[in-house]
Amino acid sequence: MTYVFQPPAIVSLPVRGMDAVFPVHRIYCVGRNYAAHAIEMGHDPDREPPFFFQKNPDNLLLDADFPYPDKSSDVHHEIEMIVALKSGGRNIPVENALDCVFGYGVGLDMTRRDLQGECKKMGRPWEIGKAFEHSAPCTGLVSAEEIGHPDEGAVWLKINDEIRQEGDLNQLIWKVAETISYLSGLFELAPGDLIMSGTPSGVGPVQRGDVLHGYVEGVGELRTKVV
Ligand code: MN
Repeated sequence: MTYVFQPPAIVSLPVRGMDAVFPVHRIYCVGRNYAAHAIEMGHDPDREPPFFFQKNPDNLLLDADFPYPDKSSDVHHEIEMIVALKSGGRNIPVENALDCVFGYGVGLDMTRRDLQGECKKMGRPWEIGKAFEHSAPCTGLVSAEEIGHPDEGAVWLKINDEIRQEGDLNQLIWKVAETISYLSGLFELAPGDLIMSGTPSGVGPVQRGDVLHGYVEGVGELRTKVV
């Protein structure tokens, strides 16, 4: 096979305790998956069906400073647990869904909230608010073989050592297995897919110079500086 130009390298994430790395296929993100965050964004937290948007694999930012993006003056942090799939398919039953999970990580769904807000107002898609360069700072992965499937545990984000977001995995409106099952009815899931599972309440703006420290109990810790 000859390409008309050299294709970019496959985006991949390291895995704790393994030499092999995890090749990333797609990134799905769940919207409003913690009731307190739905309320703070002005929505009814009742269990409406989950909804999704996507980021791009090359939006991932591993172990590096977060460059404040252009065209925004209101960039928000959203700390989230990342679910990494080793297998996929369509219409996966809830009871089989966790069999698809390779492992977990910690990520930030960085959001140009001002641009997202304009999109919402005008009924336009969210990509310019969500899927910009470096918009997904993240850690490497830990395998489910090592840590199991966390369904409770603290999730928090500190900025400059001050707590901003706080929640618990047991507050997820759509649990990981339910999310995979529902998503697999909309898309054919595949090995390498990542799912950002939603953020607890307390989202807010970041400034250049801020040090972000995120935590998901049993999964990992993420640190990045806004530059
Ligand atoms: Mn999010």
